[in-house]
Amino acid sequence: MVKICKYCGCENQENFNYCSNCGMPLIQKKEKDIILNYKKLIIISYIITILFSWGGILLNILFNNYGFFSFIGIFLPFYLIQSKDKFVKKHGYIQIAISIVGIILSILLIFHY
Ligand SMILES: [Zn+2]
Repeated sequence: MVKICKYCGCENQENFNYCSNCGMPLIQKKEKDIILNYKKLIIISYIITILFSWGGILLNILFNNYGFFSFIGIFLPFYLIQSKDKFVKKHGYIQIAISIVGIILSILLIFHY
């Protein structure tokens, strides 16, 4: 893979941090953006996972129904664990754990009522 300088369009070797032609920093900013996007994705996924998984329990308590609601919360973490990024993957597994606990509690509530 080559890094392409966005300032002059020159192709540089992957291990270069600065453009061999114009001396401007290569790709670093983009890498930062990707990490920021991952963090946003992880936070959003946590919110959705907790909201759906545990919201299902709340709906069970309030309306004696809608337990299936909890299962929606497990889809996003499954998407996260398919990531090649270890950091994203780890949080995916944590979210699956949160989701499973929520689902189990929902199921227990369904049988309780
Ligand atoms: Zn350049």
